[in-house]
Order: sequence, then C-alpha cells, then structure tokens
Amino acid sequence: MSPALPSPLLVVSAHAADFVWRAGGYIARTTAEGGQAHVVCLSFGERGESQGAWRQPGMTLERVKEIRRQEAEEAGGVLGAGLRFLDQGDYPLPEGEEILSLLVELLRELQPALILTHSKADPYNLDHPRAAELTIRARMVAQAAGYPSPLPPLGAPPVFRFEPHQPEVCEFRPDVLVDITAVMEQKLRAMASMRSQEHLVEYYSDLARRRGVQAVRNGGPREIRYAEAYQRVFPEVAEALR
Ligand SMILES: [Zn+2]
Repeated sequence: MSPALPSPLLVVSAHAADFVWRAGGYIARTTAEGGQAHVVCLSFGERGESQGAWRQPGMTLERVKEIRRQEAEEAGGVLGAGLRFLDQGDYPLPEGEEILSLLVELLRELQPALILTHSKADPYNLDHPRAAELTIRARMVAQAAGYPSPLPPLGAPPVFRFEPHQPEVCEFRPDVLVDITAVMEQKLRAMASMRSQEHLVEYYSDLARRRGVQAVRNGGPREIRYAEAYQRVFPEVAEALR
C-alpha cells in the first residue's frame, strides 16, 4: 500500500519536546496511514525547556538530558516516529559548520519527502528560528551535486513551519490547517509523556480545538474537531488552484 501522505517525513526539532506540541498530530497521521516519520532533536532542551526536571533535588545537566531523552523516546513511540538526538546543546543552540554538516548528512541519508520545522522568528526563544534556519540551509547544501558525501543529493522536499507558542509575534500565519481529529488521542498520550513540561498539555489541547473550529470555518468537513496549523516556506506546485 502506498502511503497517503508524503513519506518519509522529517521533523527538525530544536529541543526534545517541540515536535510533540507542534507537529505530534501530523506525525501520528503519517505513520497511521502507513508512512515513515523521523524526528531529529538538535538538543535535549536540557537548560531551557526542562523546568519540571530541574525542580527535582540534586539534578545535574546529564541527568536532565537522560530524562528528556526518555520522555522524547516515549512520545516518539506513541506517534510511531524514529528519533535521532544530535545533542548539540541549547540556550543557546549553536550554529556553525559542525551542526550544519550533521544535518546535511541526515537529510541525504533519510531523503525526506517532506520537512517540518520551526517558525522564521521567535523573539522569546532564538533557538527555534536558528533551528529553522539551519534546516533550510542544510536542505540547500544537501541538494548541491558537488557536496563531498557518499550519499546522494537531496531533491526538493517541501518545508512547512509548525506553529510557535505565540504566533502573533513570530511572523507565523497559518497557510494550511491539517485535520488531526482521528489521531488526537495519540497526540494527547504523546504530550502526557513530556512530564518535564506538563504545564503545556492543556495549552496545546486547547490550541488543537481552536484550530479545529477554524478548519471547519474555512470550509473543512464538519467532523473536524482538532487541527494543527502550518506555514509554507516554498510555493506549492499544483495543477489547479483550490
Ligand atoms: Zn523549544
């Protein structure tokens, strides 16, 4: 059976949990419909996005990283995604040749048909736009025929940005609303795995409900109850305007 959604899917997440809140529904839909999904976490979010873990007595950076790895793997298991951890550090996430080369090699190895990543701007969290910029730069380099690698060049997979925490100040405008009603239960279980940030579960459940209402308002089937919003980076190639 050929998968209904583009596969393999690659999600580039700055920190260990970003992919769950923002793209968990789309990942679950991809795998539920027979596709493959990979998530690369550039860091564990060990310094900046692990408040719950740091509240435990005697915590160390290495222990936080281990906790976040376990949580992310548990969530990935619920969503049916394979995880890669580059462990590049957070707050700040580095830029430069090393992290870029790692991403280029990963893109050439996985040959994704679709890439999801962060918003273009996020003044609250500069690791997020840096991860997005690295992703798009790595896509460009991975396409270059002369890049020295035994792996084949990348094609031109579409790139979508997933929804940031405060879209109004992150230059995020939804271009596409994707129905995640059928997999919302899976997304809830994946979010529940993220015990170090459990304060976000209710927020992202509410957001999915609001995006679902907006999907119906924008002409989607009345059965849609939950949705996720995405923003395009490159133009869509289509036979018709719909
Ligand atoms: Zn993050």
